[in-house]
Amino acid sequence: MKKAGITIENVHLAFGDTEVLKGVNLDIQPGEFFAFLGPSGSGKSTLLRAIAGFGPTPKGRILIGDRDVVGLDPWKRNVGMVFQSYALWPHMSVRDNVAFGLKERKVPSAQIKTKVDAALELVDLAHLADRMPNQLSGGQQQRIALARTVVVEPDVLLLDEPLSNLDASLRVHMRRELLRLQRQLGLTTIFVTHDQEEANTTCDRMAVLDGGVIQQVGSPLELYDRPENLFVANFLGTAN
Ligand code: ADP
Ligand code: MG
Repeated sequence: MKKAGITIENVHLAFGDTEVLKGVNLDIQPGEFFAFLGPSGSGKSTLLRAIAGFGPTPKGRILIGDRDVVGLDPWKRNVGMVFQSYALWPHMSVRDNVAFGLKERKVPSAQIKTKVDAALELVDLAHLADRMPNQLSGGQQQRIALARTVVVEPDVLLLDEPLSNLDASLRVHMRRELLRLQRQLGLTTIFVTHDQEEANTTCDRMAVLDGGVIQQVGSPLELYDRPENLFVANFLGTAN
């Protein structure tokens, strides 16, 4: 699988007159597991959606690999995105849900079967291929949503609070699954969360956002040891 880095240069984005991203600069390395961490309303989803190509066109540059994707249609960016509400097609089997994106891309059917089997193996759900979504638990549905996203071999994987609809114990389990999957695929991944423990236990590095501005970037350890400002210290609970 290809690995693309992501470079964000001086990105501003407004909804009408309200500026929501206020000059974001960021470099994400190929293969890195990166988190956007911050309180509700800090601009995490807006930034992620700007990378994916949803929402208003931002000012500035967003490079995936060496290609500036600003203004490019979402489906031309080769990004995979998983949302909090990971809705599977209710009338399609697990296999058909995972195959959907491959069929849309006109992948030959022999290859579709191989790719779908591999994607279901990856999330340990090959045995549930013929089930319907309503016959699966929440965690299983979320894993199918992941399989459906990675099966088309995106350059980057974008996850917007993908675990927040799951109950607490499942969330911890799925966190580990996600990390395993990311390491196995080596896929450049951005994981949006408001939960610092979720970020700490998964990511290589994270950006802490507040008010549409990145407050600090670093590994979890760096941020805890050396918060650069009071917001980061307070948010991470290290202020004393
Ligand atoms: P987060 O994901 O960190 O909770 P968001 O990126 O969803 O934050 O939102 C950042 C800010 O942008 C918030 O103030 C929110 O109200 C505003 N916002 C988000 N989406 C829209 C929209 N479609 N129209 C207007 N304002 C929006
Ligand atoms: Mg959000």
